[in-house]
Amino acid sequence: MRTPIIAGNWKLHMNPEQTAEFVAAVKDKLPESSKVESAICAPAVDLDALRKAAEGSNLHIGAENAYFEEEGAFTGETSPKVLKEMGINYCIIGHSERRGYFHETDEDINKKAKALFANGVTPILCCGESLETREANKQEEWVVGQIKADLEGLSADQVASLVIAYEPIWAIGTGKTATAEQAEEMCKTIRETIKDLYNEETAENVRIQYGGSVKPANVKEIMAKPNIDGGLIGGAALEPESFLALVNYQD
Ligand code: 13P
Repeated sequence: MRTPIIAGNWKLHMNPEQTAEFVAAVKDKLPESSKVESAICAPAVDLDALRKAAEGSNLHIGAENAYFEEEGAFTGETSPKVLKEMGINYCIIGHSERRGYFHETDEDINKKAKALFANGVTPILCCGESLETREANKQEEWVVGQIKADLEGLSADQVASLVIAYEPIWAIGTGKTATAEQAEEMCKTIRETIKDLYNEETAENVRIQYGGSVKPANVKEIMAKPNIDGGLIGGAALEPESFLALVNYQD
């Protein structure tokens, strides 16, 4: 059985002080990790505050990006090795904002996945199509292409432990959520792709999230779908009350 994972992606919001306040407000009200894993992925400058504030709680912590080299002359980058040393559990890679604004390619994302696994940090790999691609009804071939390229050379064990986030770009920050059926359909396709690339066991173990305008009002319906194992949430994960409603969706 896959443990659901509800993760916030803070993007470029929050400072260390706000981070500590947020965690203090939620830390005693989070579900047991065996029931629902709750996580916050924060900007690199907030990670130390996040780790300290979350100590001893059920909150898992993640970064929003990392480089594929561990050290060297790479001004401005974040080391996957240091993330591990800091006790960071997860790292988002391949978010559409990074693919779009920062021109990250599938090759970069594949290298990042390998570097994170080499350092014991679990990637949350994002994929998803643009509105143009969906209107042309090419979303499946697009997402399957991303998955194949991003996972190239990873082992079945690595992929089984991975988190994949399906985030249609047209649903991010727009208030326009994909229907639970559209989300389920693509998450099922992603799982079938993993089965084709690896095997049934790997496909049954990999956790697949949906992201794009998830909020307390729609989380239950989305989480009820058999191939959706979690949510990656932007706007609605910035307020303690709303984050708590999301992670406690089973109550
Ligand atoms: P919103 O929840 O704000 O639509 O953002 C989704 C997202 O990009 C999470 O990574």
